[in-house]
Amino acid sequence: MSKEENLQCSFCGRKKPETDLLIAGVDAHICDKCIEQAHGIVEEEIAEATSTSLSKDLTLKKPKEIKAFLDEYIIGQDQTKKSMSVAVYNHYKRLLQVKDEENEVEIEKSNIVLVGETGTGKTLVARTIAKMLNVPFSIVDATVLTQAGYVGEDVESILSRLLQAADYDVIKAQRGIVFIDEIDKIARKGDNPSITRDVSGEGVQQALLKLLEGTVVNVAPKGGRKHPDQKFIQVDTKDILFIAGGAFSGIDRIISKRLNMQAVGFSASLDDDKVDDDNLLQYIIPSDLKAFGLIPEIIGRLPVLSYMNPLDANTLRAILTEPKNSIIKQYTKLFAMDDVAFSMTEDALLYIVGKAVEYKLGARGLRSLCEAILTDAMFDLPSSDEKEFVVDLAYAESKLTNTTLKKLRAAS
Ligand code: ADP
Repeated sequence: MSKEENLQCSFCGRKKPETDLLIAGVDAHICDKCIEQAHGIVEEEIAEATSTSLSKDLTLKKPKEIKAFLDEYIIGQDQTKKSMSVAVYNHYKRLLQVKDEENEVEIEKSNIVLVGETGTGKTLVARTIAKMLNVPFSIVDATVLTQAGYVGEDVESILSRLLQAADYDVIKAQRGIVFIDEIDKIARKGDNPSITRDVSGEGVQQALLKLLEGTVVNVAPKGGRKHPDQKFIQVDTKDILFIAGGAFSGIDRIISKRLNMQAVGFSASLDDDKVDDDNLLQYIIPSDLKAFGLIPEIIGRLPVLSYMNPLDANTLRAILTEPKNSIIKQYTKLFAMDDVAFSMTEDALLYIVGKAVEYKLGARGLRSLCEAILTDAMFDLPSSDEKEFVVDLAYAESKLTNTTLKKLRAAS
């Protein structure tokens, strides 16, 4: 036997001819089979270490604590904050329990659907939950999604964004939150006259089903820096929390019709059954989403349904100053960085709110209004000696010309 053939793997003892490859180390050799086995062990160990550390990271906050956190950032919308807190608590409870094999009761996913006009804080709620949990978060617009084979993005693109947000850490991404905006726009065509696209929304709904429930998807990393050579990354969606949002414009008519039919069917003239016509969304039930054009299977996979109240002037006023990172607090910080003490008088704040209401600019408009009022000062003050800047009603009025307001309305 030649000297070569005498060589053997120092781990399993296989002789060189019995191996496909034998790699030499300083005083030892290792064969291809042992390398493969060792690689498997290393991967398992890393995965286990990451998942235990993730479980540790993921301290399960109680629903009341979750709501208290949401309260710091979101004004009003109590009913949604409450049901979201419970849904998120249950979702992560479920996630921490899957390890327990003896547990035969499988907790189902608590994906959420939020119904409410645009600008009422649906995205904000989802984003804030993700911030609290410190999990990756991504937003996708349902309108860009199409059935496989059509021009547009496949539903899998939802996951490539989440992967990006997780910096390509698959384990982290698998516990992230995805906000699917404008879910109402993929309603079935026949039931919703506002849909003009050719591609049937129903096909997209069908494609979304599996994703919502939990499936393993091959995701193209899309410009992934860390894995330029890797074609697909496998992502399991079973622990991803999906929050869908939509304005469902016109759904109030469906709700009203249903309520009226019930009123005829039963003797519903009791006083406490009086319907609040100004905010019909509060009566929403899953069958209304079906009547709007979502397929029952999608509704079934979004078991938590909640609604957003329209924002009135009081709420808008509170949004300006009360959230932890409110618009006014942000400007105060910006000015403070130039050593300027910034403040706004109450009548100036109310003036801004009044304009937001008058021009129907919503909460998003508050920022544009402030920007229009403060831009000149933000341009001038850093090069001046001013140490104080108070915006009063007269100053605010002088900066908000009709042209500016019209522009803002056109842009909203
Ligand atoms: P939607 O997703 O419903 O269209 P967003 O969450 O994008 O609305 O809200 C737009 C902006 O309005 C948010 O970034 C936030 O600044 C503000 N906003 C809306 N509703 C609230 C609220 N209830 N509390 C605090 N800020 C709000």
